[in-house]
Amino acid sequence: MASVQELKLELLEIVRALKAYVQTYPQSCGESPEEDRVSESQPFVSFTEEEKTVSDQNHILTLEMIHAEMGDCQRCPLGRSRTHLVFGEGNPQAELVFVGEAPGGDEDRLGRPFVGRAGQLLTKIVAAMGLTRRDVYICNILKCRPPGNRNPQPDEIAACEPFLIKQLQAIQPKIICALGTFAAKTLLKTDVPISVLRGRYHDYHDISLMPTYHPAYLLRNPGAKKLVWEDVQVIMKDLGLKKKDKSDIS
Ligand code: SF4
Repeated sequence: MASVQELKLELLEIVRALKAYVQTYPQSCGESPEEDRVSESQPFVSFTEEEKTVSDQNHILTLEMIHAEMGDCQRCPLGRSRTHLVFGEGNPQAELVFVGEAPGGDEDRLGRPFVGRAGQLLTKIVAAMGLTRRDVYICNILKCRPPGNRNPQPDEIAACEPFLIKQLQAIQPKIICALGTFAAKTLLKTDVPISVLRGRYHDYHDISLMPTYHPAYLLRNPGAKKLVWEDVQVIMKDLGLKKKDKSDIS
């Protein structure tokens, strides 16, 4: 039987997780759970029985427990220079998860992923799929901004990627869309360029991963939007979303 001290610690952990949830998703409190779901789906990810039990009890709480576990993370040097840790946001049971490289300046300031100009274009891409940001989940490999938006360092990735993997285990998405060359190469542990990786699925911890160009790249190279739209249409087909003849991401 658990001791009083153990029960107290457990209770403290639950309160901390709930507090983090309310702070991160105030808009979700008091709303119907149906509003946060796209549709019922079968998970692609294989989990241990223990992980299944935790996930099946409450997906949201599981994500929040991960967030609480990160706390005021200082596991790599980026913890000292960030303004906000950008955990991720969206549907905790999303079928589709977008994963970028790391937060930029706007994201660091606001504590939310993909909210700058590139983020607005991602929002447009999501809308063109017939979805909203609340239907999908959006996060980055690194949760803290590298100074001057420099490329993430291997030690930073090693420290932070385990949390991304835990997030994906909690969400159990059907598809991951890796945004940009760095995210794709880092997740797939390859040096193959994004121009070769994009357009087809790869395996990431038993989840189908579609690499495509980063929205920031599209802002500089609008001609690549049609390639992203091709990639997005493959995802739409596999999610059973209605096909569109023309994109609306111009
Ligand atoms: S980047 Fe990740 S590992 Fe490094 S301090 Fe931020 S949350 Fe922690």
